[in-house]
Amino acid sequence: MSETTATSLGLPAAPTGNAAPRALPERVYDAYLFDLDGTIYLGEELLPGALQLLAHLRETKRRVVFLSNNPTLDRAMYVSKLTKLGIQVAPEEVVNSVVSMVAWLSREHPGKTVYPIAEQPLITALRDAGIPTSSNPDEIEIVLASYDRGFDYSKLQIAFDALWKRDAILVATNLDRYCPFPGGRGEPDAAAIVAAIEACTGVSCVANAGKPSVIMLETVMATLGLRPEQCLMTGDRLYTDVKMAVDARMDSALVLTGDADLDSVARTAAADQPTYILDRVDHVISAAVRHQLGWSDVTTESLAVGHRSA
Ligand SMILES: [Mg+2]
Repeated sequence: MSETTATSLGLPAAPTGNAAPRALPERVYDAYLFDLDGTIYLGEELLPGALQLLAHLRETKRRVVFLSNNPTLDRAMYVSKLTKLGIQVAPEEVVNSVVSMVAWLSREHPGKTVYPIAEQPLITALRDAGIPTSSNPDEIEIVLASYDRGFDYSKLQIAFDALWKRDAILVATNLDRYCPFPGGRGEPDAAAIVAAIEACTGVSCVANAGKPSVIMLETVMATLGLRPEQCLMTGDRLYTDVKMAVDARMDSALVLTGDADLDSVARTAAADQPTYILDRVDHVISAAVRHQLGWSDVTTESLAVGHRSA
């Protein structure tokens, strides 16, 4: 295995104390967009530095938005989860694929009948938005695939019947392959369900409401009212978090606490490289400011422990 360096990746060199010099954030952004799983927390555990970072951004009046492709939670559930972890957040500061998909369906396909292969939060959000749903293939106009841990053969059959030689379309909340869990584990995510439907029908998914799609980006930017160059997107996935920022010409920070590692960065095309590569999420704040604030890379983990949910 060849050694990965910032130089080999075409990144400007900056001293980090590690073997590989990397570019690190020096500027302050007007808004900080954060992925959640693998970036702020992993499962039910806050990741190191997240708590003090969010407190600092609140104190300095920066705008904050949390983005997640995970459609198994709604805004209220995210607010509850983050609050238990010690992070204060308003519902409108959370944009996940439930929010973006419901907004897109309401805007682009008003009145169309949807078959949601989904867990309850998405089903409830569709109902609350007045979007008609059905499991009758003769009525279904849109098959909506998502991260559904109740997925089974009967749901696949309904999707097949609706798409096979009918005029329905296939869309997805997100196209993540798996959702990361602590200890290096994970769960199959929506990409597996989309693939199963595509494999048996030959029909391709035509829209994805999660990162890196423009649907998610437009939903987020509408909540901020800022230009992409005023924002920093931080996440643990190259093909969702970083790709969305790259497509929007927004600066991006890849944090190495979830999906991506330096080998996957090395395999990524130069045009899709993150602006910054960070060992932990609070390193979106410059080293000079972190030093002024008295932050260390050791004490933050013990700070987070007291706020972990039961
Ligand atoms: Mg993530």
